[in-house]
Amino acid sequence: MKKYNFNAGPSILPREVIENTAKQCLDFNGSGLSLMEISHRAKDFQPVVDEAVALVKELLQLPAGYSVIFLGGGASLEFCMVPYNFLIKKAAYLNTGTWAKKAIKEAKLFGEVVEVASSAESNYTYIPKGWTCPTDVDYLHVTTNNTIYGTEIRRELDVPVPMVADMSSDILSRPVDVSKYDCIYAGAQKNLAMAGVTIVIVKDEKLGKAPRQIPTMLNYQTHVEKGSMFNTPPVVPIYCALENLRWIKRNGGVEAMDKLAHERADILYAEIDRNKLFRGTVKEEDRSLMNICFVMNDEYAELEKPFLDFATERGMVGIKGHRSVGGFRASCYNAQTVEGVQALVQCMKDFEAAH
Ligand SMILES: *Cc1c(COP(=O)(O)O)cnc(C)c1O
Repeated sequence: MKKYNFNAGPSILPREVIENTAKQCLDFNGSGLSLMEISHRAKDFQPVVDEAVALVKELLQLPAGYSVIFLGGGASLEFCMVPYNFLIKKAAYLNTGTWAKKAIKEAKLFGEVVEVASSAESNYTYIPKGWTCPTDVDYLHVTTNNTIYGTEIRRELDVPVPMVADMSSDILSRPVDVSKYDCIYAGAQKNLAMAGVTIVIVKDEKLGKAPRQIPTMLNYQTHVEKGSMFNTPPVVPIYCALENLRWIKRNGGVEAMDKLAHERADILYAEIDRNKLFRGTVKEEDRSLMNICFVMNDEYAELEKPFLDFATERGMVGIKGHRSVGGFRASCYNAQTVEGVQALVQCMKDFEAAH
């Protein structure tokens, strides 16, 4: 039976990206050696990093003065690297959920942290509005897409300071005005590649300003100066990212990804709103296009497990909601097809008809 992958992360990738990466794992560029067996300094590998960097710059239309690096450690390591490198005295953070809270915890190790607003009191079902950002902070940190709760800030905020963004689960799903950010980071395993690499975009002129000694490996400058080759980078995940960047370009770039994201989300949210069994968990204006969360309406609460079983039998994978929200979460990253979303909607309709 055909499987429809709605996993939140690691998550769906285009089939051709997986196949092309697998081929190179068996025989890299016809060398007779696996991608896993060659030196990251081999003359064949440098072009992989160079092309991946060039494609990120092209797809996101990076202004001059920004560098793109590939690191290990996941987005979670960036929670500490960001303040290590950019927090001089004080930073502002918008608390929109689990990942934001983790970022705040690390930042407090390095200086004063102002939490500009939080939606914790409602279990993060909306993006706080109407707050003001202090002007005397080094940066404002935002999580543009809240993978667990299904809220998203799908535009650049209008604030008087540079922003730093965790874009782990929505990077390359829309055009971004990078000039508003000093740093953008994303663990690859949601919307970019297989797990194991983190992409970081940094504004060069902001490097080397923090009033502290930074361990070599945690200093962005190290990796910028060495073009992600200071130490052995995650070679296979970087290759996988390259294949996916090529796929995004072939398929119309981030504008096309944005259009598709709207198309998929419109179909699924329309069914959630129409179907008497279900309701969305998030304030409508803040609904994520990437992670679509919904629960059973109260009077049908006992049907949660039966619906999960019903959908699973029909090939839906990974739709169980995160434990902090419950219910269901359908992750619709770039590689998710409209057909996949329609298959889930059909499940919801058929289940409703049977009850
Ligand atoms: C998954 C996720 C993280 C954590 O990523 P790791 O690479 O596992 O450290 C951080 N932020 C967001 C928004 C995420 O979705």
